[in-house]
Amino acid sequence: MPHPSGLPDLCIVIESDGEDRATEFQPLDWRNLDPSALRNRIRDLGLAGLGGAVFPTYIKLNPGATRKVPTLILNGAECEPWITCDDRLMRERAEGILRGAVAMQAILHADAIIVGIEDNKPEAAAALQAAAKQLGLPVEVTIVPTLYPSGGGKQLAYLLTGKEMPAGGRSTDAGVQVFNVATAYSLHRAIDLGEPMLSRVVTVTGHVSEPQNFEVRIGTPIEDLIRQAGGELAGATGKLIGGPMMGFELRDDTAPLTKAVNCVIVKNRKLFPAAPPALACIRCGECARACPALLQPFEMYWYAKAKDFGKAQSYRLFDCIECGCCSYVCPSHIPLVDFFRFAKGEIWAREREKEASEQARQRHEFHQFRLEREKQEKADKLAAKAVDRLKTVETGSSDPEAERKKAILQAAIERAQKAKEGITPKNVDGLTPQIQQEIADIEARRAQLRETAHAKDEDSA
Ligand code: SF4
Ligand code: SF4
Repeated sequence: MPHPSGLPDLCIVIESDGEDRATEFQPLDWRNLDPSALRNRIRDLGLAGLGGAVFPTYIKLNPGATRKVPTLILNGAECEPWITCDDRLMRERAEGILRGAVAMQAILHADAIIVGIEDNKPEAAAALQAAAKQLGLPVEVTIVPTLYPSGGGKQLAYLLTGKEMPAGGRSTDAGVQVFNVATAYSLHRAIDLGEPMLSRVVTVTGHVSEPQNFEVRIGTPIEDLIRQAGGELAGATGKLIGGPMMGFELRDDTAPLTKAVNCVIVKNRKLFPAAPPALACIRCGECARACPALLQPFEMYWYAKAKDFGKAQSYRLFDCIECGCCSYVCPSHIPLVDFFRFAKGEIWAREREKEASEQARQRHEFHQFRLEREKQEKADKLAAKAVDRLKTVETGSSDPEAERKKAILQAAIERAQKAKEGITPKNVDGLTPQIQQEIADIEARRAQLRETAHAKDEDSA
């Protein structure tokens, strides 16, 4: 798979019959569909964000509890240098993009549609303005400076609305939703033509004979794409998926194109010279000055390197968009973003481990509780039997054998009663407050389990 891990994944191989026929697609009557049913149809058609993050579109089209997202932004600023797929799409398919945007506006109950385009794309801006005029849509086309990373969702939203997106939150918390222009276009094809997400536009560039953009079906082997661009030239040193700042190495050319692949760059030594060896951090602060998310990369770097991930997180590690600006400006050539990716990966892995051990603990405790309950039920039954038998033993009898049986039965009833009262930990004196707290927590969880089981018993009764 074209993924930073380079790991293989489950794929479906489609054997083509070469006839290139499609099934009949049915347009969606989206204006009369219930919003939830419409989102489900969009999900089934496989729509995902084409800006690179491939976040499912149907989730982003849910306005949530507020039932309204006032501002809809279309992101027409390319995410990185070299990438031109959105530029071509805006120039050639402006009307389709705006039709998709109108549907988005209706679903989100947005008051305004703003399209953000960088100032190095005048043709795209003109095409969108002309299409808006032709369709009679009040779309605001705003030109933003070509300054990496203004194509980042939060950065563009700030540029266009002046609203800062909340740290660790979503842009909808600030009443803004951002979609890539290509996602709006795929929504137009989904609702107006009933077409699933079958293809996307991809830039193939770098050390190839004929750099260009292609509209490519998802699943096409990347080697075919490079061949179509005239093939790689002599002296190629590898391939990047994505742009030069955030892209990752393609380990196998036969990997299929996914929805996330917006660009393939063939590298050579001149375009991508080998990175000089990293030196010690001199605390110059250049990285902090370059960071568009207003972070302190050198602090995060120190703590990520020391594997003090909690501290790295306290410096808002998860607000880092991995744009690579800090690494780019660092005079010590420290690959800062690699450290941040490593720290995030470790934190996620620990979270997963914690979750797994929490589940294992819950299962163990429930197992213990079930054993206790079964023991108690057995004791109850024995006690009930003992009570019955006790009634049959003559009271006030002078028969010593009857008296002995009576005593045994009485003891059995008492034991059952004690079992029913539950088991409490013994020898808890002299324990540290922390251990006592842990015991109290376990007891609380046991009580909760008992309550849950009791409620289940009542339900099944
Ligand atoms: S730019 Fe590099 S050397 Fe300067 S403070 Fe940041 S990490 Fe350290
Ligand atoms: S990669 Fe560096 S510059 Fe970019 S957001 Fe993260 S810390 Fe800031």
